[in-house]
Amino acid sequence: MNKIAIIGAGVSGLTVAQLLREKAEVVVFEKESKAGGLIRCERIDGSLFHTCGGHVFNTKNQQVLDWFWKQFDKDIEFHKTDRNSVIFFPNGQQIPYPIENFAYLLDESLQKSFIQDLLAISKSNSQSIENFKDFLKQRFGDTLYNLYFEPYNMKVWRRSLADVPIDWLAGKLPMPTVEEIIYNNFNRVAEKQFVHSSFFYEKRNGSQLIVERLAKGINIRCSASIEQIEWKHDQWLINGEVFNNVIFCGNIKDIPHLVRGVEISTYTQPIEALQFHGTTAVFCEIDANPYSWIYLPDDKYEAHRIICTGNFASSNNGKLTPNRITATVEFTDEISKEKISENLQRIPLNPKYITHKYNQYTYPIQQKDTREMILSLKQKLTAKGVYMTGRFADWEYYNMDAAMAAAMKTIEPMI
Ligand SMILES: Cc1cc2nc3c(=O)[nH]c(=O)nc-3n(C[C@H](O)[C@H](O)[C@H](O)COP(=O)(O)OP(=O)(O)OC[C@H]3O[C@@H](n4cnc5c(N)ncnc54)[C@H](O)[C@@H]3O)c2cc1C
Repeated sequence: MNKIAIIGAGVSGLTVAQLLREKAEVVVFEKESKAGGLIRCERIDGSLFHTCGGHVFNTKNQQVLDWFWKQFDKDIEFHKTDRNSVIFFPNGQQIPYPIENFAYLLDESLQKSFIQDLLAISKSNSQSIENFKDFLKQRFGDTLYNLYFEPYNMKVWRRSLADVPIDWLAGKLPMPTVEEIIYNNFNRVAEKQFVHSSFFYEKRNGSQLIVERLAKGINIRCSASIEQIEWKHDQWLINGEVFNNVIFCGNIKDIPHLVRGVEISTYTQPIEALQFHGTTAVFCEIDANPYSWIYLPDDKYEAHRIICTGNFASSNNGKLTPNRITATVEFTDEISKEKISENLQRIPLNPKYITHKYNQYTYPIQQKDTREMILSLKQKLTAKGVYMTGRFADWEYYNMDAAMAAAMKTIEPMI
């Protein structure tokens, strides 16, 4: 039986481990003291803290859906919920998300300028789209760009949107035509195309349930940061232990100094140049409200989104009184505890700080040649039995389902 090392016990590594456990001897190495990566949750005084974001599940991939529901009892362990998201504007107005479907709620002058924008878009010839700013302006026009898309996305990306590449966009952003925007406004149609326009959420323990289920029966060695894998005598050596294959589900930034015995030095510079953002997830209690996600374009504070995790499952709210729920307030990159406290005073719904966690790697930024470079590196390593898959191994903007799909594809040659 082949012996396979899996590096990283996030959802990618755990999916790979489950898929291979009956076909090979599998050992998972995880550098943190617990498995889960970005989807890990902790209980704090009875309330559930998603240590990054507030993970919900859905997919349009039938293979992933079938496999996922084999791991759970869908009706007993999950709820299905329709997304109810909203944008809080500086003037106090709340407009449902996505804003382009609810333009009829804007004040009269904004409605008129949005109509002018739509007319101009429908008359314009398609121009080349070089960056995120071009994309948003050409798709939605200046009115919504200035009102929402620019201020919100500037907080997320922390740079001019003209400097945000668009290669990561496919499948991630709404692509409505002018006709669809007009139709949706006339008919009060809520957006249904997005993978998370409705979603599944665990009745207990949030995405930690996924971690625990996928970790079941797997040999996981925690607090085991792998610093080197060495190709020697047609096998891979990890801490003196021999493996036939390695499946790397960690961060590609580690690959140049991790791999020994295979010449990959030409990839060092392009890998070092890869850009990314982190996220500070601030766990709070806030006033009860009906929302799933609240988007915050207001520049009075730096946070860009509140994920109302307390609305996903009542068991997430621990001992809170009924007029309060738990939530994650998100800031791009690292932010100090003092700055968090200052910001919370200005954020709506009276957030009260419970704890926070900074995750250094949360959003990979793709450049034009990123996919090509990684594909070429993968071909080189695959020839020696090392496979790479995962959000930061592939440097792709994967949701959990896309990470599972990528894991399935990666192990195909091994089964
Ligand atoms: C803010 C935010 C919100 C999100 N919300 C959703 C959502 O609602 N729904 C959804 O489907 N997806 C969501 N996602 C995406 C989801 O988090 C990812 O798709 C998924 O967690 C990626 O899992 P992964 O295993 O590829 O990577 P990770 O979770 O990053 O796992 C990598 C693991 O490898 C370990 N590791 C790294 N290097 C080493 C080493 N050298 N040795 C040993 N171990 C190592 C790390 O410690 C980590 O545990 C969200 C992401 C973010 C950032």
